[in-house]
Amino acid sequence: MKKQDCIFCKIAAGEIPSKTLYEDEKFRVILDLGPATRGHALILPKEHSADLYVLPEETAGEAMKLAKKMALLLRDKLHCEGLNLVQNNGEVAGQTVSHFHLHLIPRYSDDGQKINWIPSSPTQEELEAVRKEIAE
Ligand code: 5GP
Ligand code: ZN
Repeated sequence: MKKQDCIFCKIAAGEIPSKTLYEDEKFRVILDLGPATRGHALILPKEHSADLYVLPEETAGEAMKLAKKMALLLRDKLHCEGLNLVQNNGEVAGQTVSHFHLHLIPRYSDDGQKINWIPSSPTQEELEAVRKEIAE
């Protein structure tokens, strides 16, 4: 299924040019236009899914396998010292393009980036309440 007017559908299909690092039947991996660091790449499934919630399970598995392959390639070629995998779902989580994508962000000791959150300090009781809500 291809969604009309979805920019990542068009990029994945090759209808809009991109800096492609890898392509196969199901995926295209491109350089992000506004990279956080040198080599910031996006894994795009060719089939449209808005986000992780609706992504077919099989595609999710294949995307993670491809992420590993690309991580090794980026480390090998760019000599990055680390790598963040980022995947945003929903506007509140920072998703700006409604076509599932996986960010691969190579990290360098001097890259000046922060991909982080502010930790909080819940009590054991608060943690247990959340655990119950999710798991029971
Ligand atoms: P999100 O915020 O949805 O997780 O990530 C969207 C990403 O797509 C951003 O990092 C943004 O720079 C990138 N992006 C948006 N439009 C384009 C485009 O047309 N081409 C490429 N290569 N990247 C894009
Ligand atoms: Zn799409």
